[in-house]
Amino acid sequence: MYLGKVIELGTRDAIFDNTLHPYSRALISAIPQVDPSQAKERIILKGDLPSPVKPPSGCRFHVRCSECMEICKTDIPEFLEYDDGHFVACHLYK
Ligand code: SF4
Repeated sequence: MYLGKVIELGTRDAIFDNTLHPYSRALISAIPQVDPSQAKERIILKGDLPSPVKPPSGCRFHVRCSECMEICKTDIPEFLEYDDGHFVACHLYK
């Protein structure tokens, strides 16, 4: 979830093996690894968390997303099924 919206939904394997949403990728990159050789490059988000009372227009994550496109600033991404049982709300997967 990001700012009160579900942004990705799927099985454990789907989420961890084929992470789709840029925010999910950032969250997963922050998980500490016992084995340093398994560690992924940490994704550091830019900016601060916007107010959930007055969220950004379009995709709520767009002000912090490194993959933001013009459409992201105005259009709310639909929550669509990308793969069998794996849902995501992101314009990258339309
Ligand atoms: S819709 Fe756009 S801003 Fe939102 S997560 Fe996807 S690429 Fe980033």
